[in-house]
Amino acid sequence: MIHKEIGRKLGVYTTMSLQSNNPDRTVAITDFVCLLPNYLEENSPKYCLTASGSLIVNDKILLVKHKKLGIWLSPGGHVEVNEMPHQAAERECLEETGVHVKTIQHGFYKKSQTSNYLPSPISTNLHWINQDNYLIRIGQKQAEKDPRWSNRGCEVHLDYKYLLEPTSEVVLNRQIEETDGLEWFSRDQIADLETTDDIKGELVYAFVLL
Ligand SMILES: [Zn+2]
Repeated sequence: MIHKEIGRKLGVYTTMSLQSNNPDRTVAITDFVCLLPNYLEENSPKYCLTASGSLIVNDKILLVKHKKLGIWLSPGGHVEVNEMPHQAAERECLEETGVHVKTIQHGFYKKSQTSNYLPSPISTNLHWINQDNYLIRIGQKQAEKDPRWSNRGCEVHLDYKYLLEPTSEVVLNRQIEETDGLEWFSRDQIADLETTDDIKGELVYAFVLL
């Protein structure tokens, strides 16, 4: 049921996206973002759709240091209204690093009058962003304020990661307010990187695909 409904919504969007300047195209992606939690239990965590991008140039991958977590990550962030996930990855990369990029096509592709084939993510990752929220959800910690968890912020990220390539000369321009660092890393440096094992796995996989 869930998959069928999401597929239907995405189908609506991809068909509509063929028509430029159609104001209705903003509706479908908004519905999709809101749709996920609605199909789960009433008191389920709030899911948010996010996107990130692996940019490899001259055998090095570009990473940003997350301000709060203090670890190295691919540029990324929340998918906005009127935006497809791969477009969010491209926008976030530009905003956080100053590099203009486009997504490398993966997955089935065909020029079509009736469908719009989008790049496929190289990984799809569902993760809790807050350990406390997770512990409350599984009943191992007491919620301090609102036990019903109304008006809660996002708790779980559904992240689509894409492979990116630069579209112009690569000039780094770090957005100071968004990140604590911006650097290129070789594949050999990933093992010792200050980040999680999951992220290390994703980064190595990006090198394998190129
Ligand atoms: Zn979030």
